[in-house]
Amino acid sequence: MIPYGKQSIDQNDIDSVVKVLKSDFLTQGPMVPLFEGAIAEKVGVNHAVAVNSATSALHLACLALNVGKGDIVWTSPITFVASANCALYCDASIDFIDIDPKTFNICLIKLEKKLQKAELDKKIPKVVIPVHLCGTSCDMEAIYQLSKRFGFHIIEDASHAIGGYYQGIPIGSCKYSDITIFSFHPVKIITTAEGGMAVTACSDLADKMILLRNHGITRDTEQMTHESDGPWYYQQISLGFNYRMTDIQAALGLSQLSRLDEFVEDRNKLATRYKIMLDSLPVSPQYIQKYNYSSFHLYVIRIELNKTHLTYREIFERLRAKGIGVNVHYIPIHTQPFYKTKGFKKGDFPSAEAYYENAMSLPIFHYMSQEQQNKVVKTLQDILG
Ligand SMILES: *Cc1c(COP(=O)(O)O)cnc(C)c1O
Repeated sequence: MIPYGKQSIDQNDIDSVVKVLKSDFLTQGPMVPLFEGAIAEKVGVNHAVAVNSATSALHLACLALNVGKGDIVWTSPITFVASANCALYCDASIDFIDIDPKTFNICLIKLEKKLQKAELDKKIPKVVIPVHLCGTSCDMEAIYQLSKRFGFHIIEDASHAIGGYYQGIPIGSCKYSDITIFSFHPVKIITTAEGGMAVTACSDLADKMILLRNHGITRDTEQMTHESDGPWYYQQISLGFNYRMTDIQAALGLSQLSRLDEFVEDRNKLATRYKIMLDSLPVSPQYIQKYNYSSFHLYVIRIELNKTHLTYREIFERLRAKGIGVNVHYIPIHTQPFYKTKGFKKGDFPSAEAYYENAMSLPIFHYMSQEQQNKVVKTLQDILG
């Protein structure tokens, strides 16, 4: 089976991990700050907070922005459930903005309309979480302008998008957002096995996230309510979590980061090749605007089902049967049973639901060969033809 995505681990990655295993610190050692510093430098931002998953990063980002009971958070219905769950962890409520059928990201016209209505209803979201689906950035400058006009914060869910660029600037610069989060799950662009990072230009937000990833405990005397009892002393000053990344993970991440550009270049080559080879088939790939350089975590096509006699499911099953590890990203969140209990129902976000009727992720990963890619296209051609 040609998988839809897969990590790329080389000998340097292995050596970096082994070195940590033989060192004094498996966690809370020097590797985590080194990895944070390297990510911050790579994406051009001041602060980076490493955590044990992007899900944790989303949770901390919401908490740092004081999301709580009575607050509203908006995100895309076409994303992994974690993008929405983070709001509910904070006792806030969640709502969705329907997608653009071509970019698969949130539709800015619908966002503006929804904001206008929310303003009348006095229900402006505290935070909007744009998701850069497949590694292709949303139009962040436009979202930022809306945030100034209507008054909301922005967390970029860039779980797919490290190594991508928007307007020539690395995704993660936070030029148009409060916080950006990355995932280092093995199917993503670079991996730490499990792991994530929140980056921000704001030192206060970074400090809050650093505090909360470690139980709300501080050793910084400036943050304490009274003078330190002695060198052993720490204070818990809020309710945090254990969301720490280990040094083993950070070492892997640091080693992987040195190949980030190579990974993204190779994914772009594959994407360009797909686009050309798929041109004659009844499918449309994600539309990439001129201001975007996608990291191509995913290569999603939409199948023009009216041009084939097969159903979506039949196409999927036939591809799988031929060893093509296609996948679907994602099932619209508002149609999940859990979210239905929150009052959402089918019909709420028609473009997201239409996407789910014909979108399919084709295999794309760093060392995918041209032969493998040819096989994917040939198989798809045979099935659709
Ligand atoms: C993978 C992913 C997450 C969660 O990442 P973890 O590191 O697995 O917690 C969140 N949002 C999106 C869009 C993702 O793809």
